[in-house]
Amino acid sequence: MNTSMPDAAPAMRDDEQVVVAWLRDHDATCPVCGYELRGHAKAVCSECGAPLKLGVVSDSVGIGAYLLAVIACACALGFDGVCAMLFAIMRGIIYFTNGASAAPEFFILFGTMLVLTVLSASALFMVARSRVRILRMPPWRRWRAAVLILVCVFVAHLTVGAVLASIV
Ligand SMILES: [Zn+2]
Repeated sequence: MNTSMPDAAPAMRDDEQVVVAWLRDHDATCPVCGYELRGHAKAVCSECGAPLKLGVVSDSVGIGAYLLAVIACACALGFDGVCAMLFAIMRGIIYFTNGASAAPEFFILFGTMLVLTVLSASALFMVARSRVRILRMPPWRRWRAAVLILVCVFVAHLTVGAVLASIV
């Protein structure tokens, strides 16, 4: 075999040969740099050096709506969690500097943020667990579900904020 000779080009693997064979008569651009790859003789983009491979894709895997739902829940979790933590830290600082006991308002605020943190974490967990179910939905249903989750998160926080503002 000439592959053992030091100056021989390394043999192409099967998956590389498949890429080269496909590029021989198909138009395709490099997914990294956009370079036209038709007729390429190797499975590496000659413009940017990105390794190339063929894959199976589906138009159903629109990840956008799923990401929107995840981001909505993750933002809520981050906000609620940070608020709860800041309330606890501030309360701790006040207690250790002048020993003052907490006012009832503190427990209302802290308790509410703690409950919201748990609810946001649960929502994020449920969305993450339903990934396959969400991705299998037709695009319009997937986006409807994502927007519904976003609106629910927003309205829930707006409502809780308004209630807190009126009682604290
Ligand atoms: Zn490239």
